[in-house]
Amino acid sequence: MAFHLRGTVLPDGVVRDLWILGDRITFERPSGAVETVADGGFLLPGLVDVHTHPGVRDEDGASSFDAGLFAEQIAAHRDAGTTALRFPGLLGEIPAELRDAPGSPRMITAGRWLAWAGLSRSAPFHTVAEDLVAAAVAEAKAHDGWCKLMGDWDFEAAAVPYALLREVVDGVHAVGARVAVHCQSAEGVLHAARAGVDSIEHGMGMPEECVGIMAAHGTTFVPTLTAFAGSAPRRTGDTPRDRLWREGHRTLIRRVREAYDAGVTVLAGTDSAPFGNVAGEVGHLIAAGLPAEAAVGAASWSARAFLGLGGLTEGGLADVTVHDADPRREPGVLRHPRRIVLRGRVVR
Ligand SMILES: [Zn+2]
Repeated sequence: MAFHLRGTVLPDGVVRDLWILGDRITFERPSGAVETVADGGFLLPGLVDVHTHPGVRDEDGASSFDAGLFAEQIAAHRDAGTTALRFPGLLGEIPAELRDAPGSPRMITAGRWLAWAGLSRSAPFHTVAEDLVAAAVAEAKAHDGWCKLMGDWDFEAAAVPYALLREVVDGVHAVGARVAVHCQSAEGVLHAARAGVDSIEHGMGMPEECVGIMAAHGTTFVPTLTAFAGSAPRRTGDTPRDRLWREGHRTLIRRVREAYDAGVTVLAGTDSAPFGNVAGEVGHLIAAGLPAEAAVGAASWSARAFLGLGGLTEGGLADVTVHDADPRREPGVLRHPRRIVLRGRVVR
């Protein structure tokens, strides 16, 4: 049986009838039996979190992949209306039985976190690669067309050299894949921006000139403000690292609006627990100065376009959330989808 929904379709803002046939959307009424599951409200192609790392268990200073925890955490995303996820760094492989399961959000993984041998080896979740270019190409090919690099790590240590990052970008682009780079220092962000990476993750301490460089390269910016808002209250000390951290955080918040104004796509990623909280990141993006429509798109249609998933279009994938009010005016409604359709099935 087909499902029928009627409501204001975003981002177009037009009231339409749409039907779900299997895992596809159509605007043409099908001939068979139809069940109306939503009449009124605002229709999104679901929420998207482009920066989340489910399944990491930390114990005794070591991190490991826990498939049970992974299943719980992607379910938390789904139950919040998150229909698609990108993992820029995952400690294990997506369990085969969950990969395309009816209840699983659509998932895109970049494989492991790859670290240049010149960076600190202190992080328990990094995979140190002696040949970073070869490792990045292999990781992107083995996964969903993405790899994830650490562009820097310790504040006191050097970032990955620009020339090496550039080689990685050229190598990965040559096989039609994309590069996501973690940066949290001015030097790290500058090298990543100049190298033309596909997405800058975090971007703490981003120098002003990076905004124009990202715009010129079409680099996407995922500031993960949720993660920093969570850890900011713990950074009250007076060590050089604390001061760098606080200043880097203030700079990051300023750059969100500047990047948007320069034409950079800014997307929503939470990075840290709780899972299923991308609506919270939308709130942080708006607080940083992003227009509400762009902030909602950052966690929905713009993010789906970035991941190649598409929105609410004829023949599009059948992911829909229904909200009681216009999230562009009341972003808080993103937290309480009245209806969730995932892979053509009614989850709620
Ligand atoms: Zn992360």
